[in-house]
Amino acid sequence: MYCGSSESTNPAYHDLASRFGAAVARRGLRLVYGGGSIGLMGRCAEAARAAGGQVLGVMPRFLEAREIPLANVPHRMVDTMHERKLVMFQESDAFVVLPGGIGTLEEAVEVASWRRLDLHSKPIVFLAEDDFWTPFFALIQHTIDLKLTPASFAQAVTPASSIEECFDAIGARVSA
Ligand code: AMP
Repeated sequence: MYCGSSESTNPAYHDLASRFGAAVARRGLRLVYGGGSIGLMGRCAEAARAAGGQVLGVMPRFLEAREIPLANVPHRMVDTMHERKLVMFQESDAFVVLPGGIGTLEEAVEVASWRRLDLHSKPIVFLAEDDFWTPFFALIQHTIDLKLTPASFAQAVTPASSIEECFDAIGARVSA
């Protein structure tokens, strides 16, 4: 899961992150995330942990002071941002992207670009209950319209406007 580290964004995004974390746990799935206790990341992981779910945090050592590893969840400590992304990629069966800033975009676009190169076939779902991801999908479509990205790539990145729709998209629906 990729999402923002902001404490001061729209509270509805923090709420979505909490509900998503709890839903992951209820479905018996493991949440792999960046390891921090701040922003949407922290809300999501804390909710998953509180609901009895498995959580794995992947934290670069140099970010420990800034992002503050969440207590009582296992962490894989790594040295670089590249290593963090590689471990998160290897440990994840699907990627869910919640609202976030430049860091979230960077991580999500990397796994999407790896789909474009056929390096994996894991689902990538962009979840928001409002129009947060609309400009992102418009930009992807813009690159498709200009024949910079193949039209088939549109199937590699899926928008979801609810948590249920998100789990349907990744095919991970199990009885709650
Ligand atoms: P943001 O969306 O900017 O709040 O960032 C969300 C998370 O992405 C934070 O945990 C950042 O540390 C992380 N992040 C930012 N850039 C990178 C990167 N290049 N590689 C891995 N993680 C990153």
